[in-house]
Amino acid sequence: MKHLTIVKLGGSVITHKDSTPPKVNEANLSRIANELKVHTRGELIIILGGGAHGHQAAHSHGFADPTSPKELLVKGIPPIRHNMSALASSVETSLSEEGIPAIVIPPFVSVTLRNGLIHDYPTNIIRKSLDNGLVVITHGDVCFDEENIVSILSGDTIAVYLAKELDAKTILIGTDVDGVLDDNPKTNPSAKHIPVINQENKDTILSKTGPSTNTDVTGGMSKKVTELLEISRQNREIIIFNLTVPDRLKFLLQNKTTICTRIQS
Ligand code: ADP
Repeated sequence: MKHLTIVKLGGSVITHKDSTPPKVNEANLSRIANELKVHTRGELIIILGGGAHGHQAAHSHGFADPTSPKELLVKGIPPIRHNMSALASSVETSLSEEGIPAIVIPPFVSVTLRNGLIHDYPTNIIRKSLDNGLVVITHGDVCFDEENIVSILSGDTIAVYLAKELDAKTILIGTDVDGVLDDNPKTNPSAKHIPVINQENKDTILSKTGPSTNTDVTGGMSKKVTELLEISRQNREIIIFNLTVPDRLKFLLQNKTTICTRIQS
């Protein structure tokens, strides 16, 4: 592969996270699709977080509670799949309107988990799609689990897995805050921005990053940082940035500087 870029679109940005039934944030989505047009330097995978489409149905079907009965979890599969497919289809439409040739490859049909961790994740079709010049859209999903019947696979975990497996050179994680701060900016408005996380400051920072303040069953900011640190290495750019602010994604795709947090080895 020439230069694989992975862009994660945070669920809090592309959906109205508190809206029931779930609603796509059309304004953000069409702006993001337009910004993605500047990408020219190689292959591109776009990963969608669940936002309102994933987390609400997951929550109401007991996915945040390890003692939930099997029947309740299984009942959650159709609504979660339905919502995530609808979200992915909206993203595909927005990209198509900008002339970006994208297809959706949903994890549910081929990925299995074991105790919530990836057990089997075939990437052949993803590779073939990228090799043929297609942009791949995939997303957080519900997946069968060898131990727990079904579990949630988060968009962040997919980003890390595919980055490692397909040797991504650039990983851009878009969320609704300026990257990582020394406290949750949603509850502490004077939290300070952290420009770089590396081996030297990671322990101090991880003790300060908390879970998401949204209805999130997948771990929030501290899990994002922990997983991303595991794949950090030289010649791999890993960035968490604010996707709600216009042009930041565009600047990062153009290799220009903007406010963000870089995760370095
Ligand atoms: P997304 O849905 O965009 O993937 P998440 O909701 O999973 O994003 O994670 C982003 C959220 O993490 C922020 O909205 C914020 O409330 C929360 N958060 C908790 N601690 C921190 C921190 N130290 N720095 C930044 N964000 C934090």
